[in-house]
Amino acid sequence: QVMEADVVVIGGGGAGLTAAIEAHDAGAKVIVVEKMPFVGGNTVRSKGGLNAAETSVQKKLGINDSVEAFYKDTMEGGKNLNDPELVKYFTENSAEAVDWLISIGMDLGDVAAGAGATNPRMHRPTGGKDIGAVLIDTLSKNIKERKIETLVNTTVTEITGSTDQITGIKAVDNNTKQEIQIKADSVVVATGGFAANEKLYTKYREDLKGFITTNHTGATGDGIIMAEALGAGLVDMEQIQTNPTVEQSKAEVISESVRGLGAIFVNQSGNRFTNEMLTRDVLSAKILEQEGKYTYILFDQQLRDSMGAIEGLVKKNLVTEGNSIEELAAKISIDAASLQSTIDRWNTAVANKKDEDYGRETGMDNNLSKAPYYVIKVAPGVHHTMGGIKINTNAEVLKSDGTKINGLYAAGEAAGGVHGANRLGGNAVADIIIYGRQAGIKSSELALKNG
Ligand code: ADP
Repeated sequence: QVMEADVVVIGGGGAGLTAAIEAHDAGAKVIVVEKMPFVGGNTVRSKGGLNAAETSVQKKLGINDSVEAFYKDTMEGGKNLNDPELVKYFTENSAEAVDWLISIGMDLGDVAAGAGATNPRMHRPTGGKDIGAVLIDTLSKNIKERKIETLVNTTVTEITGSTDQITGIKAVDNNTKQEIQIKADSVVVATGGFAANEKLYTKYREDLKGFITTNHTGATGDGIIMAEALGAGLVDMEQIQTNPTVEQSKAEVISESVRGLGAIFVNQSGNRFTNEMLTRDVLSAKILEQEGKYTYILFDQQLRDSMGAIEGLVKKNLVTEGNSIEELAAKISIDAASLQSTIDRWNTAVANKKDEDYGRETGMDNNLSKAPYYVIKVAPGVHHTMGGIKINTNAEVLKSDGTKINGLYAAGEAAGGVHGANRLGGNAVADIIIYGRQAGIKSSELALKNG
């Protein structure tokens, strides 16, 4: 089967759907191709928010922030490995991205503080809803309203053409095994990252062998591999973020906010071993130094009462409960006396507002004193791949020598350079919208010019 379009978008996650909407609105005929039976990708799992500075929402809420501070935070968070031009465009266009999302019906009424951000700039739906699900709902609704053709269960296997000019894609219908060809002058690679492709990430990072992933099964880096085959440059492929607190049986990320509300880490010897509020990379490394390479997140009934999300974790059987410290210790085979003395010492630190052992300064408003006591056993998991296809601020794909591949665009986690060595929470969703829009606008411009 042969089809024709102006723009083909590979991948129906946040970046792909955004690019498709923008390209359509610019007048292009767009086809989205998604290999899974449904759209949403990894984006639908996102629980954080969208970082943006100097936005209409911040102004309404009386929050002072600046594009300059956003730029500085992002570069610092990424250890200055980020591409400064990409970060400049990213931060300067974040406020407009928020307005655009609101204009297509997205709820972003809430703004929270995020790790590594000088000012509150993590835009979220109101009422504590997870951003990923709300975002994918909103984008899907807009795709349907515009009648943008979306082929699901269809895996793109090749981008056709040459570096002089892209000519389209080849794909396979996963049900009928039939080959599909789509001719198009512009192709947007929005296939996400490769955190679910152990073979690929261990090629760059042998130390991550055997880690579980927090990603959906489709995050295998197909677009990166296909673009590379055509001559695209790749950047920062070894920059891979682990999330330190992943429950291993269900690959469930346990939010940092549990620690923010007062939980501590204890190892199998019943001892704390770190300031629990350090960055993801540091905590992952510390956990891997512990016996068994895991830690328990420990909290009490007060914390459970103050955090609705814990109930979901309890329902999924991820939480071990003890009516006393002794009972809990017995259940997880920790020495009860050491666990008791660790908790006593922590409660003293909370009372004195001084953690003499590890210098923790936040998440110390509540002590651990109300039974039952709870633990969740966690270890690091592969979470986000910062590297990927080399792009410029037009979302155009570049060869290693910096020249363009005509007609090829990339956005979202498939592209590299925005996050450098470490992605801040809230910057991935911002990235897929900002560069997804740009990819849609620029790809349609080229296709319509070519006619
Ligand atoms: P981003 O956050 O960058 O938008 P997501 O993970 O949310 O990334 O979305 C990427 C989407 O691309 C996923 O839905 C994934 O299933 C899809 N995808 C990955 N590889 C292919 C492929 N070869 N063909 C079609 N779709 C693909």
